[in-house]
Amino acid sequence: MALDKTMSRQPKEVTTPSEKISDFFGANVFNRESMKQFMSEEAYDSVIRAMELGSRLDRKMANQVASAMKAWAMGKGATHYTHWFQPLTGRTAEKHDAFYTPTSDGRSFETFDGDQLVQQEPDASSFPNGGIRNTFEARGYTAWDPTSPAFIIGKTLCIPTIFISYTGESLDNKAPLLKALHVVDKAATDVCQYFDKDITKVTSTLGWEQEYFLVDSALHAARPDLALTGRSLFGHSSSKGQQLDDHYFGSIPDRVTAFMRDFETESLLLGIPVTTRHNEVAPNQYELAPVFEECNLAVDHNQLLMDLMEKTAAKHDFHVLLHEKPFAGINGSGKHNNWSLGANSSKHRNLLQPGSTPKANLRFLTFFVNTISAVYKHADLLRASIASAGNDHRLGANEAPPAILSIFIGSQLTKVLEDIEQRVTGKALTPDEKTELKLNIGKIPEILLDNTDRNRTSPFAFTGNKFEFRAVGSTANCSIPMIALNAAMAEQLKRFKVDVDALITSGKKKDDAILEILREYIIEAKPILFEGNGYGDEWVEEAEKRGLSNVKTTPYALDFYLKEETLSLFESLDIMSKREQEARYDIFQENYKMKIQIESRVMADMALNHIIPAAIKYQSQVVDNVRGLKDIFAGEFDTVAKEQIAIIKELSERIELVRSKAMAMTEARKQANKIEDPAAQAKSYCDTVVPFFEEIRYQVDKLELIIDNNDWPLPKYREMLFTK
Ligand code: ADP
Ligand code: MG
Repeated sequence: MALDKTMSRQPKEVTTPSEKISDFFGANVFNRESMKQFMSEEAYDSVIRAMELGSRLDRKMANQVASAMKAWAMGKGATHYTHWFQPLTGRTAEKHDAFYTPTSDGRSFETFDGDQLVQQEPDASSFPNGGIRNTFEARGYTAWDPTSPAFIIGKTLCIPTIFISYTGESLDNKAPLLKALHVVDKAATDVCQYFDKDITKVTSTLGWEQEYFLVDSALHAARPDLALTGRSLFGHSSSKGQQLDDHYFGSIPDRVTAFMRDFETESLLLGIPVTTRHNEVAPNQYELAPVFEECNLAVDHNQLLMDLMEKTAAKHDFHVLLHEKPFAGINGSGKHNNWSLGANSSKHRNLLQPGSTPKANLRFLTFFVNTISAVYKHADLLRASIASAGNDHRLGANEAPPAILSIFIGSQLTKVLEDIEQRVTGKALTPDEKTELKLNIGKIPEILLDNTDRNRTSPFAFTGNKFEFRAVGSTANCSIPMIALNAAMAEQLKRFKVDVDALITSGKKKDDAILEILREYIIEAKPILFEGNGYGDEWVEEAEKRGLSNVKTTPYALDFYLKEETLSLFESLDIMSKREQEARYDIFQENYKMKIQIESRVMADMALNHIIPAAIKYQSQVVDNVRGLKDIFAGEFDTVAKEQIAIIKELSERIELVRSKAMAMTEARKQANKIEDPAAQAKSYCDTVVPFFEEIRYQVDKLELIIDNNDWPLPKYREMLFTK
């Protein structure tokens, strides 16, 4: 194959700005510094207010902001602008317009003012909307999100926006996220009042870790499955895989380093605070993690980064595979979502950071236990929030996080919770009990220091000062799990406030009331805590006893979105109406179906057009050989041609199986296509089409081992996975 050509590739020159990172960090972002420079004080203040308090920007101010933004962007060479949004397809969308349009008399008129900044009506009727936009209102609007700064890519000013229908319903991932962040801020700020009256704002923070694979672009182009579905539908595992663990933290090949340096520079210019890089467990797998940020911004940065990676990779003759499972038999890719809540207080910044005093630790315990409760109560919603065709390969299989949602907190914190559970009775604490408990709580920071046994098999783990949601898929838009988590947390904190206030009203002291309620929550949510091996069969049995769900495939996991608890969660918090949720459910089911449909078509095409012809060609060669042997060794023919005849037979059997299964799969698809309801159709695809994937693949991978290496029509795993 193209192997020889790719092996000899040299790293590309990288043009890194010569300055220090701090000199160019965020240079392509319309951040506070550039706003100050380009705006009147009045306009600047009103944008900051809009950013921090969510207040509306009036028309006059919007015009000022638009002209400042334009002046800044044109000064940097931009000629076009676009509203940049996140439709429910999962990636980003743009519609570019020029700042000026030439007129016939040789002049030009301006096309970007306050109106264009604040609202745009892209002709976006082909984005999924789950039936929300019917024909007479078949318009979606994009509206400026001032909390995420505008930025320049190439020659285009990109303005982050939400995408909503004419009647105000969300058609994207950003609008509900902003609402969820707003309610969790409000609920957490109220709870913070028990500990620190100065706290007026709580920010949800997200630090994602992005895993990905790199493949040489020539090899990628020679694999229709990678090109069209993002994963290899066929491919026998390489003799050497990840057994030696020699890739993990191993040295990074020069070509890869050149690519990384290039796209890190691009990221830094866009204000994405990337820092770490290392090899992952699987060959050709890498990871990238920036410093955490406010959740909405972190989501935008992740979306932006995924696009940037793909563009930059192309310059280095690589293709980035963001798919959750591009290669069978070796690790898949995830996107850990590190999450916490941060307060605007000098004393209590990270609310999940154990403090140095008993009081600070009561605050820590409050947020810690409430997170556990929130996840317990809405575990099914969280499971639904990470469901995707790609992630089924991880969650449904025996590898990185299982489909059962549980929380790992480490042995030390388990003890602390047990302590509270046992000691705090319904009655007021005795002074002795109180001292002892406070002492124990006071010890949390010390004991956490040796909480080093991080359980890698847990889908949701406490890691010292934040929770890490590890079951998120590598292609995911983080806002989907973040909407779920922040909404669940908001509801939980509201409930906590009501419960504690009721006890205080009945005469309990504040600390006693808090501890008593926490104790109730700990007892209630205990079934979700699990410290053991998440991959083991024992856990599957144990989880079932505890009443935890274990749903392995997307269309069934998505059903959790229609649970009464979920519908009322989003509705009561004003995040999404029932109609919006149902529309979204249909869209996610439809997305799943389309992914599987494409995989199935590509698989059948490759089996019939690539694999079987190669098998037949090779079989003909062997047949010729056997004929020749017959001429020469008429007498001993049976012995001399024994193996060849076995090969011919095996080829025939496998060709027959591949072909008949490919036909049967196509027939299953035809039947599924007749179903109108999106959820029922997705389930039919899952139950009747997907099972063929493994069966066909098994036969094809066997053929790969038999057919002449020179005639195999696809680059092999060993060629794709070991970039030098
Ligand atoms: P790993 O999971 O690879 O062991 P870490 O546990 O060190 O890595 O996680 C580091 C990630 O956690 C980084 O992406 C960082 O930005 C994020 N992180 C750290 N503190 C917070 C926080 N308060 N809120 C959200 N994310 C955080
Ligand atoms: Mg991690």
